[in-house]
Amino acid sequence: MFLDDSLAFTLNSLDRMAQRRSDAEWLARQAASAEARHLGFIGERPLVVLNPLGGLALYSLPQSSVREPVFLGCEDGEKPIFASQLPEEQDLSAFGEAVKAIDLRSLAMQSILPPAMLGVLAQARTLLHWHATHRFCSRCGVASEMRDGGYRRHCPACHADHFPRTDPVSIMLVTRGDHCLLGRQARFAPGMYSALAGFIEPGETIEEAARREVFEEAGIKVGRVDYHSSQPWPFPANLMIGVMAEGLSEEITIDRTELEDARWFPRAEVKAMLEGTHPAGLTVPAPFAIANRLVRRFVGET
Ligand SMILES: [Zn+2]
Repeated sequence: MFLDDSLAFTLNSLDRMAQRRSDAEWLARQAASAEARHLGFIGERPLVVLNPLGGLALYSLPQSSVREPVFLGCEDGEKPIFASQLPEEQDLSAFGEAVKAIDLRSLAMQSILPPAMLGVLAQARTLLHWHATHRFCSRCGVASEMRDGGYRRHCPACHADHFPRTDPVSIMLVTRGDHCLLGRQARFAPGMYSALAGFIEPGETIEEAARREVFEEAGIKVGRVDYHSSQPWPFPANLMIGVMAEGLSEEITIDRTELEDARWFPRAEVKAMLEGTHPAGLTVPAPFAIANRLVRRFVGET
C-alpha cells in the first residue's frame, strides 16, 4: 500500500487510543493535562491561526472555551487532542487577531496544512456533527449523554447505546477499452467532469451499488468492479470507496435529475483534462479528491 499526501483526509497523525477512551478517569486526566490541545470548530469550520511566516496552524482553545469536547487521540504517544463545537455567534477576535475559521474544503484544496492534520480535522468534523445532530435517544426520545470521549452516546432512560455513523459512498470510474465514463452535475465548477458516485444502500455490496448507480444515472451496464482506494469525506460523514468498473454497454441514457451531462472520454482527452490543457477547457477534480486518483489510474499514472 502506498500513501499519497495529495489525497485529502487520508493521513491522520493521531493514535486514537481506542482501547483507553472508555476509561472515564483516564479520559478526565487527559483533558486536564497541561499537554492537552483543544481544537475549536464553528459550524463545520475549524479555527486556524495565521502564523507570521504566512502558514496556518490549528488553533488551541483556552480551557474556558471548551464545551463537550470529543477526544480525537494522542499525538506523539502522549499529547491528547480534543475538539469542541463553539457557538455560531462566537466572537473570534476574543482569541486574537490572527485566528480565523476556514472551511475544510478550502483547507484541503489549498494544501496549506500538513496532510496528517487534515485527517485529524476530518475525524473531528464528522464526530462533532454527529453529536450536534443526535442529542436525543432515537429509541425513546430522552436526551442522551456523551460517553467514550464522544464515540458513543448513552440513553439514561432506556439504556440504549448509539454510535457515530459513517455513510459509505461508492465512487466508480467506468472504463471500456480506451474510454472512460465521466459525468457532471449542474453544481460542478464549469467544465468539470468526474467519476459517477452514489450512496451504498442498506444490504447492498459496494459492487452492487456501483452497478446500480451507473445504470440509474447513465444507463450503462457494468460488469467487473475492482476496489481501488478509499477516502474519508467529512461533509459530513462519508467514506468514499473508489472502484474501477468495467463498462459492458456503450449507449448513454442520462438521468437528468442527477446529471447534466455524461460522456465517454478517450484516454488522450482525459490526460489533457488532468494536465489542464484540454482545448475546450474541460477538467477533472483536483488531486485532493479520490476521483482524481481514479482518473490517473485510468491514464496509467498510478
Ligand atoms: Zn432511550
